Amino acid sequence: MFGLRLAIAALALSGTMAMAAECPRPDALGTARVLTVDPHAFPRVGLKSFPATLPLADHEVVLTFDDGPFPATTNKVLAALASECVRATFFLIGQNAQANPQIVRAIAAAGHGIGHHTWSHRILSTIGDAKALEEIDRGIAADDAALGHAPSAKTRFFRFPGFASTPPLLARLEARGMVVFGADLWASDWNPMTPEQQLALLTARLEQARKGIILLHDTKQQTARMLPDFLRYLKRGGYKVVHVVPAG
Ligand SMILES: [Zn+2]
Repeated sequence: MFGLRLAIAALALSGTMAMAAECPRPDALGTARVLTVDPHAFPRVGLKSFPATLPLADHEVVLTFDDGPFPATTNKVLAALASECVRATFFLIGQNAQANPQIVRAIAAAGHGIGHHTWSHRILSTIGDAKALEEIDRGIAADDAALGHAPSAKTRFFRFPGFASTPPLLARLEARGMVVFGADLWASDWNPMTPEQQLALLTARLEQARKGIILLHDTKQQTARMLPDFLRYLKRGGYKVVHVVPAG
């Protein structure tokens, strides 16, 4: 019994040391906890599109980035996240993943989550369900190929371009055990603005919402430039970053 306790203590210690080694800055924001998302309990999340969202506590946020990888900006986003020891989820466009597999692998190697965002970002509600499923499947295949592995339980998150879902597509994804992500709030970073304006907009929205799944785009220069300040804002405001992972 004593030996077992000792072993557990040693394991806990090595875990703490590993985390400290990963995150040398003592005042970094850090990742507060990991939330496993069961697709049966949470097939679709995000109040902008759906009635339900993730079970987050007050001041807990999930950071998500869409449309990458994009060399000019994704690496800056990764650097900002690394410097605060924060884990996020990246919803990849398949053709971008195919063009930049080394960035896809860098995202995964840094411990971030990978989600899918179709092959070419077509608005799936406008092209018919058969074509839409092709877009979804080609995107997933390209993301998995860039990651260098077969389809995996680790990449069971999906987000519709423009949040343009249809009931049959939602049913199909649910049957496959995919969690469909909407968002609870966003920075509207598809609109041109300065990083300062974007920070002001996003922080005002977060103060209103108090928590939630935040949508950003790692393809946007203004977002990459805003991110270090936004992460410091989260730290100062007592926000906690939650890293989401698929069940299984
Ligand atoms: Zn998108």
